[in-house]
Amino acid sequence: MAVNKGRVFLVGAGPGDPKLISVRGMEAIQRADVIVYDRLANPRLLKHRKPEAELIFVGKLPDKHILKQEEINQLLVDLALQGKVVTRLKGGDPSVFGRVGEEAELLADHGITYDIIPGITSSIAVPTYAGIPVTHRDFTSSVAIVTGHEYPNKTYSSLNWEHLAKAIGTMVFLMGVANLEQICRELIRCGKPPEMPVALVRWGTWADQATITGTLADITEKVKAADFKSPAVIIVGEVVKLRDKLSWIEKKPLFGKRVLVTRARSQASELVDLIDDLGGEPVEFPVIRLQPPSRPEAQEALDRALDNLQEYDWIILTSVNGVDFFFRRLRERKIDVRRMGKAHIAAVGPKTAEALAERGIIANVLPAKFQGEGILDAIQGDLNAGQKVLLPTADLARDYLPARLKELGLEVTEVDVYENVLSMDDGEEIIHLLQNQSIHILTFTSSSTVTNLLEALKQLGIEDPQSLLQGVEIACIGPKTAETVAQAGLPITYMAEEATVASLVQSMIQGGGNPT
Ligand code: SAH
Repeated sequence: MAVNKGRVFLVGAGPGDPKLISVRGMEAIQRADVIVYDRLANPRLLKHRKPEAELIFVGKLPDKHILKQEEINQLLVDLALQGKVVTRLKGGDPSVFGRVGEEAELLADHGITYDIIPGITSSIAVPTYAGIPVTHRDFTSSVAIVTGHEYPNKTYSSLNWEHLAKAIGTMVFLMGVANLEQICRELIRCGKPPEMPVALVRWGTWADQATITGTLADITEKVKAADFKSPAVIIVGEVVKLRDKLSWIEKKPLFGKRVLVTRARSQASELVDLIDDLGGEPVEFPVIRLQPPSRPEAQEALDRALDNLQEYDWIILTSVNGVDFFFRRLRERKIDVRRMGKAHIAAVGPKTAEALAERGIIANVLPAKFQGEGILDAIQGDLNAGQKVLLPTADLARDYLPARLKELGLEVTEVDVYENVLSMDDGEEIIHLLQNQSIHILTFTSSSTVTNLLEALKQLGIEDPQSLLQGVEIACIGPKTAETVAQAGLPITYMAEEATVASLVQSMIQGGGNPT
């Protein structure tokens, strides 16, 4: 390998669902100094890049070429010659109508090292996601992947319809929507029965996946009537019939829903995984970042409380984040947890209790619902006037709990263990999705996710965020959050019964489908 030359990874990004990339493909994204990507590679894969990595979009929109293929080939060479690690991310598999040959050839001419990392091609995966396996013992023993693009000009004959029609069981056409009529006509002319089943699947494996089925004789009309657009794969063959029985992702309760997750990235994974598991497409837009208190007074107050940890009779933790930052700071200050030895420890909600349990502390659990009288019932019997309570919370914590404790005659020390700050990374992509009405549900898991989302949109140049959000369904985790949503003048569609992520997701699917 030449010393001062960069290298290029030519990577198949898979058909859309960002989890359908290979492990090597993902590593190439993580290693890249520059990522050159196009339209069919899901931009959500890009969030795995190094923070300083440069992004270059060379996507071809059907009627608008941003960069010609030759220019892309040259671009890869130029970047590599600057000594960069370049990842060229392409939809599906790079070798299947992906022009990887041309890109690799020019790299080879310049002696640049490259890897070609295969991807899951849409020609096979997209039918699969529509419940159509491209082969099946009972129906077909061969499959051909055919371009539907070159017809009717130069390679009309190179496709050799007659051979195709006679020899091949299943045919998958890529880039063929515009030429559907001719494709069907040619296949019938060459002996395929007009009643041969045909399916078109557009945006397969994305939230926008849609399928239309018919026969060689009537599919063209159906596609026109439905205004069914590319990108789509066309599947011709008996296997299409299997879809009635085998369609699977469409049966999931959140299928087709793109759901915006606004909570901090560090806390988002449970919600993201649930949405994904239920067939929805989670899109992360963390509008909150958590960090240690930035005001010196707050930090000092926290440190003072921690230094005197042994004095408290009660320590009440109100959130998983509170637990995380509390223990993080103890560790930073080298304070041994045994200093809490005499304190009763209580946790608001089961998740907080679980976070404590992970650190070896079994706490009294207070109900997660903040409203109502119930909050202190679980420990009321053990509370005595004059006892000292430490309440490590966030800068935005509500004052209900401390107020009640003070009423009961306890001496309450409230300290901020972390603070919420506004974050808006990758906001342009989100605005783009919202403008295209491609986000179907917004999830709000705290009041600050609501205020921060609106603020982030404003700071990104949207004058009237409320109108941008019109028509998007809104799911709220609890009454406080709902109040903030209502104050912002937005309608609430779904409301969690309990203040948990699982209940939030449950509220979104009620009335449709089965949680798995
Ligand atoms: N290398 C790619 C194909 C590139 S050609 C691969 O292996 O998948 C581009 C064509 O692929 C589109 O016109 C469309 O026919 C098909 N295609 C790619 N992704 C698709 C998707 N998610 N859903 C439906 N068709 C898709």
